[in-house]
Amino acid sequence: MSISNKIKKMLGLKSESAEEVKEMKKPKIGYIHLSGCTGCLMSLTENYDLLADLLDMVEIVYGHTLVDVWEMPEMDLALVEGSVCIQDEHSVEELMEAREKADLLCALGSCAMTGGFTRYARGGQQAQPSHESFLPISELVKVDLAIPGCPPSPEIIAKTLTAYIKEDMDYLKPLMDLPKHNELCGCDLQNEVVNKALCCGCGSCAMACQTRAIEMVNGRPEINTNRCIKCGVCYVHCPRTWWPEEQIKSELEL
Ligand code: SF4
Ligand code: SF4
Repeated sequence: MSISNKIKKMLGLKSESAEEVKEMKKPKIGYIHLSGCTGCLMSLTENYDLLADLLDMVEIVYGHTLVDVWEMPEMDLALVEGSVCIQDEHSVEELMEAREKADLLCALGSCAMTGGFTRYARGGQQAQPSHESFLPISELVKVDLAIPGCPPSPEIIAKTLTAYIKEDMDYLKPLMDLPKHNELCGCDLQNEVVNKALCCGCGSCAMACQTRAIEMVNGRPEINTNRCIKCGVCYVHCPRTWWPEEQIKSELEL
């Protein structure tokens, strides 16, 4: 197994010696699909010509759309897409089992991390009208890291997988801090940044919002709550919320 030079260049990694490459582990990864739209999985596949190399870095051992395995095996890392419907016992059981069988559990994407647009679910639809309560997975199980986005970009998925394999804690640490923030939306940005006089007017939140729910007015974000899908992306992108200064400097090579 080796990481191709193309991936290394894209991800800004330094090359390893032959011995180091031999030592790199090939982790067993499972993909747990709860109440998600498959957009996170699509984003992983949108790494296009890098995908084969990325998949060669890991062993996919579970995932209904990926491998023909019905019993969940032990896993090094479980990627969980989607929030969890607490009226759906199979989803709850699958999440619990994944927690038991995975060393690390990752909330992949906004639905798993914050509940995302499934926070608006109220049930009453066929064929499961009783399915009305959807939660971020951290409400039911311990989550070790989260990859934000609706969907997360192909690049952040690739970078996170690579950082995991390389045990690059500088990259992973902020993502490991994210699960404790599971109530993220435009209102949280307003409350925790603008209302506390922390906003520097950079506009990152408005640039990042995928539903254009944020407009910069007089140098401050104005949230259109009717457009907000509670993805948390604005909060994650804001430099005044949770990113540690050292991480920003290292990412920007400052
Ligand atoms: S304002 Fe936009 S980016 Fe922020 S949570 Fe709502 S939809 Fe997501
Ligand atoms: S991203 Fe920039 S403009 Fe938006 S709230 Fe944060 S500091 Fe203010």
